[in-house]
Amino acid sequence: MKKNIHTTISGSLPKPSWLAETGKLWGQWKLSGTELDQAKADAMKIVVSDQINAGISIITDGEQTRQHFVTTFIENLSGVDFKRKKTVRIRDRYDAAVPMVVDKINRKKSVFVNDVRLLRSLTSKPIKFTLPGPMTMIDTLYDDYYKSREKLAWRFAEVLNEEVKELVKAGVDIIQFDEPAFNVFFDEVHDWGVQTLERAIKNVRCTTAVHICYGYGIEANIKWKNSLGKEWRQYEKVFPLLSKSKIDQVSLECINSRVPMELISLLQKKDIMVGAIDVATNKIETPRQVANILKQALKYTSIKHLIGCTNCGMVTMPREIANAKLKALADGAALLSREL
Ligand SMILES: [Zn+2]
Repeated sequence: MKKNIHTTISGSLPKPSWLAETGKLWGQWKLSGTELDQAKADAMKIVVSDQINAGISIITDGEQTRQHFVTTFIENLSGVDFKRKKTVRIRDRYDAAVPMVVDKINRKKSVFVNDVRLLRSLTSKPIKFTLPGPMTMIDTLYDDYYKSREKLAWRFAEVLNEEVKELVKAGVDIIQFDEPAFNVFFDEVHDWGVQTLERAIKNVRCTTAVHICYGYGIEANIKWKNSLGKEWRQYEKVFPLLSKSKIDQVSLECINSRVPMELISLLQKKDIMVGAIDVATNKIETPRQVANILKQALKYTSIKHLIGCTNCGMVTMPREIANAKLKALADGAALLSREL
């Protein structure tokens, strides 16, 4: 039976230099008002066509309309004061000045429905849209209202659920939650993290995914990764819980990482987004390298469950590098599809 292996990216792509500061996680916008809105839409059109031209099969918006994968969603909720910032430690790794929760969290209106409508209008291929997961959201805030990480996470899960339902109506095929915090707070993941994620997808009719990851290729993450020893077995604690959950797809980084690929076996029946593109180096993978990584993953999963992916987001990379990596990913998956 012949099958083409699907490909997609974890989430972000670099923004054009006329839209925002480049090479940064929190790049400032270069325009404002209507001009900014138009420029964001133009950027989305470019990254969609870049993905299609490269041969990627599941298309995303490359997060062109958001300054940051977590804060842009939160900025559009009430109950958070963005003028009062407090410095907290993010995922026990680096300090950032974050906004304060001062009242009950509410979603005034959909945050991303217009982006999804635009994305839907640009391609007939399956589309994926990313949202921050509840635990990663609470980790990016100072809470002066709920005074409980768990309570705040449950509230975010309810709000996310409202948002997801609206995005599905607008035509999204896959919703992916980014939960890098799952790789740090293992007791909380066990006690309520996976449950809050399931609350966020309650009665939702689309494919659902979670991206955990060891982070972008920024210095704080590289240092942290160097401290994790010869094998990164953190996923061993989380995957058995996700395996029992309603989430359909789970990612793991496989190229230039110390994550043992055998951990995929903990995710029977799930789709596996296999990271075959390294986002921490500008060196461009060859299609053969990508094909080899995907082939190794097939020792632990079936072709029907295999999706070629990037290790993480590419927002900090130069655009031409990101595009070359998209092409390597698609070509590598096509190469393996032909060989099988
Ligand atoms: Zn990531």
